[in-house]
This record gives sequence, structure tokens and C-alpha cells, in this order.
Amino acid sequence: MTLAFDPATLTLPCAHYIGGAYVSATEEMTVTSPSTGMAVGAVPMADADTVDRAVQAARDALATSGWAGCAPRDRLKALHKWADLIEAEASTLAGLEVICSSRPYAHALTGDVAVTAEQIRFCAEFADKEAGALAPTSDSSFGYIDDAPYGVIGAITPWNFPISMAGWKLGPALAAGNAVVLKPSEMTPYSTLYMAELAVRAGIPAGLINVVIGDGPTTGNAITGHGGIDKVSFTGSTRAGAAIMENIARTGIKPMTLELGGKSPMVVFADADLDLAVDCLDRGITPNAGQFCVAGSRIIVAREIADELAARLAERFAKYRPMDTFAADPGFCPIISDRQLQRIDSIVKAGAQQGGEILCGGAHFDHPGSFYQPTLIAGVDAANPAVTEEIFGPVATFQTFETEEEAMQLAVHPTYGLCAGLFTRDLSRALRLSRKLEAGTVWINRYGRSRDHILPTGGWKASGLGKDLGREAYHANRRTKSVLIDL
Ligand code: NAD
Repeated sequence: MTLAFDPATLTLPCAHYIGGAYVSATEEMTVTSPSTGMAVGAVPMADADTVDRAVQAARDALATSGWAGCAPRDRLKALHKWADLIEAEASTLAGLEVICSSRPYAHALTGDVAVTAEQIRFCAEFADKEAGALAPTSDSSFGYIDDAPYGVIGAITPWNFPISMAGWKLGPALAAGNAVVLKPSEMTPYSTLYMAELAVRAGIPAGLINVVIGDGPTTGNAITGHGGIDKVSFTGSTRAGAAIMENIARTGIKPMTLELGGKSPMVVFADADLDLAVDCLDRGITPNAGQFCVAGSRIIVAREIADELAARLAERFAKYRPMDTFAADPGFCPIISDRQLQRIDSIVKAGAQQGGEILCGGAHFDHPGSFYQPTLIAGVDAANPAVTEEIFGPVATFQTFETEEEAMQLAVHPTYGLCAGLFTRDLSRALRLSRKLEAGTVWINRYGRSRDHILPTGGWKASGLGKDLGREAYHANRRTKSVLIDL
């Protein structure tokens, strides 16, 4: 195997990043490479005192740096410099991403890092272009809607795309004039720590980005319940989102944005371009081994084309081979942990026991590390756990329909509403049905996000509250104030 980079060249700190400096702490949790199963480092766990120190550093930085009140163009320029430095340091950042996550080096380098730099620049541009508004009041008064940053944003991110998720939170929060205390997943801490270091090297005032490492129950809870955090911005599972809502309700109401789980359908009509559909169905569930929130994990197909589509997909799935994420040639990605691997397998087995027919996959790859075969399960009804549960692995259910109404009944999930895909050559039908789908995003004759950062992302129902990306993400980091003057 040819290595894309030498992991031995990386420095892996056992530290938080607070007030512009690494703060070393006791090793409390092991960080593991999912593609080898080997420990690569250890990280500390921020307790309530450490979180408090990070919040104080953020408040001090806001008070002394003038970040919120400076000419917005200065924020814009600083963020552009940070994006330049992220690009200049792309190989180190990609290495830090890959060493403990499921991302292959080539994808992290040319995808995650490059797109994050682009997305930070996109957010920066709002700083001096978005404004409040005049209110159409009567002649006897003058009203306007002013807006201001929240102050300190408490951000929490998942392990599946650590650099991208940090960019989604930090870009708009900083452009909008806030400071941030960010907790990445304890499984994938290193790239986020380095992004914070690069921000300071780019001239963003120290203390505006603070990264604390730790798990959800200890560090996450301390952030969401802290009185000095003005807003919470979370991306992760629906289960953790519910726990955060509960903690916020208990410790003091504050606004929150929640980007949560999904169980998204990809619906293929008989008139679809089948070559395109096969490509998209494949791309909808196999990248990052299905560990992405918008995964198209429920394939719903017109009966007359079902056999052909199932056979073509199963043939493609059978060709994937696992590959160490450090390798120069990307292969099928690993599952983030053994625990997650067992969870995937147990839902697949339960799905099969409750009537599902495994068309392909359904087992671990025979390979070191945590790899699961891309899996298709047919013959499942709406109550089957493979249909109801977000599996977060390379597993899609395969259901068939006779009529458009039946397709929509299957497509609308009782719990989740993150995304949906429609494949048909009939544009009227596509537009009509896109209105019926209960989802925050609908893709027609494609599946997956583009680099159009202007399109906000966020779920309906239990898939979330509020938006990331787009103009909406900038405004989600500012709060409005209505001002009325009697003339
Ligand atoms: P997770 O919910 O287990 O963890 C996410 C983050 O929350 C981690 O940093 C974790 O330490 C922290 N956390 C866990 N419990 C917490 C608590 N009670 N209080 C505060 N913080 C807590 O999710 P994961 O396994 O890391 O990521 C996978 C999940 O994330 C999937 O459900 C996926 O759909 C979702 N996700 C959603 C989006 C989106 O944009 N909607 C994007 C990526 C991932």
C-alpha cells in the first residue's frame, strides 16, 4: 500500500485550545484510527471549570478585541486570511482529519479542506453586506430593525466531517461578530484544534475561537448549560439534540440551532434516466460508508424497474473494497468505531429477522479495522427497524411502489425530514411532489450537496431546528432589535 502521508509527521496535542494557546491536560480518552483499529493518541476531558475558562476567554476577547463593533470589512478580511491559511496548510489539516476519522486522505484534501476554505470565504462576505431593515410605520413614527451578534456561541460538532462541520459553525458565527466555544467530537479532535490555531495565526484575535475537548455528558452538558453561552449551535444525533433541549430547559433558556439525524428517501420513477439514478443511489449511501446525515438510506422504486435497479446496485456494491484511510488510493471508508459497527450490524440483523431480505452485504468486511459491506435490504415494511432507525452506515432499504400516492406515503418518514431525492424525467411531477415531501432539502435528478453554499441546510421534524449554510446561517448568528421613535 502506498501511503498518502506519513502519520508519524503529525503532532497530536493532548490539550484544549483556549485564549489563543494550547492548554495541556491529563490524558483521559484514547483516540483510535478506525481504519486500523490502533490507538493514535489521547485527549483530555474538559470539566465544568475548563469550559468556564474557555467561556471567560471568549468573553474577554469580545470585550477587548473590538470584533463585534469593528468595521465589518475588517472581519471579512480576517476571515479571508484564515481561509488562505487553511488552504496553505491543507496537507497537515487533511492528515489530522484522516488520522482518527473515516475520511480518506484524498477526499479530505481536495474535498473537505478545500470546500471549507471556500465556505468560510462565502460566510465572510455577509459581514459587510447584510443589514437590518427600515420598518414601514405610519408618518408619525420612525421604525427600524437593528441587529447584533449574540456574543458567545457554544458550538458542538459530530465526528463524520470534523473540518467541514467546524467550518459550518465558525464561519458564520465569526462573520456575524461572535466568539465561539467549540467542542468537536472526542473521537476526532485534532483538525478542529489546528483550525483554531490557524485562525489566530491569520490574525483573528486570540480567544474568539476556543476549542474544548470532551464527551457529551461532561463537556457538552457544561457548554449547553453555561450561563455565559448566549446561543447553542449543535450538529449531531436527534437523541443528543433532545438531551441538549432538556438541559437548556433545565439550566436557563437560550436560543439554539439543531442539525440532527435523517432517514432520507430516494424515489425513482419508471421514467427516470436509470444510468443517472444508479449513480445517484450509489452516491447517496456509499460515500464515507454511509456516515453522513443526508444519506439516502431508503430507496423507493417503481415496481416495473425494481428488479433491474436492485441488480445493478448490488453489482456496484459488491465491487467496493476497504482501504486504509492513509492510503494514496481511496477505498471504501471505515466505520468510525467498533461500537458503531456493532450497532449497524444489529439493526441489519433485526431488519432481516423481521422479514427483510438482504440483497447484498449484511456483514463486516474481512479486513482489520472497522469496515462494513454496503448493504441493500428489500422486503421491509414501514415498521421494520431498518426503515425506522437512522443506521448511519452503508445500509439502504429497498422498497417498491405502484402509484405516485404510494411512493409519497413511503417517502414521508414519520420522524425524520432532512432530505429527499426524486428521479423522473417528468418535471411537472417532480415539482408537484417536491412540495409534498416533508424535508428541508429536495434534490431532483441528483443526490447530495453541491458547492452552492447559498442553499441553507437543515431538517424538518426531528431532523432539526434552524439552518446552517446560506444567508440563514449568518442571520442565525445575529439577533434583531426593533426600534421605534415617535416623530
Ligand atoms: P452524537 O449526537 O453522538 O454526537 C455529536 C456531538 O454531540 C459530539 O461532539 C458529542 O460529544 C456531543 N454530544 C453527545 N451528547 C451530548 C449531550 N447530551 N450534550 C451535549 N453534547 C453532546 O452524533 P455523532 O455520532 O457524533 O454524529 C452522527 C449524527 O450526527 C447522526 O445522527 C447524523 O445524522 C448527525 N449529523 C447531522 C448533520 C446535519 O447537518 N443535520 C450533519 C452531520 C451529522
